[in-house]
Amino acid sequence: MASDLVVGVYGGDHGDSVPCDGLRNELAHAFYPTDGGLHYDGDEQWSSLVPLPDDGSYDVVWVGINEIGHLLGLVHSNDPNAVMFPWVEPGKNKRTLAADDIDAIRALYPQG
Ligand SMILES: [Zn+2]
Repeated sequence: MASDLVVGVYGGDHGDSVPCDGLRNELAHAFYPTDGGLHYDGDEQWSSLVPLPDDGSYDVVWVGINEIGHLLGLVHSNDPNAVMFPWVEPGKNKRTLAADDIDAIRALYPQG
């Protein structure tokens, strides 16, 4: 049985329309429903530690939450507090959904 979501680490041209661009710039990418692909750029310095080490690492969890948002259909937010804000800072953890994130996902998936 195939998975609906497939997460991986890639480098350079890896067979889709979005080649990984090496260190910095685009850290990862994911596709809107129903593709299910989430691709981290393997050339970045990743960490899951809290706090992050002081070596320029990016929070693999923060970026993962943002990319999973795209997998669910969310676009980027203009709210700098949102995990869906497109700018991820090295050395900073962000793992809490902001009101803007919650409003956006509730708009896409309303409850009865
Ligand atoms: Zn890709």
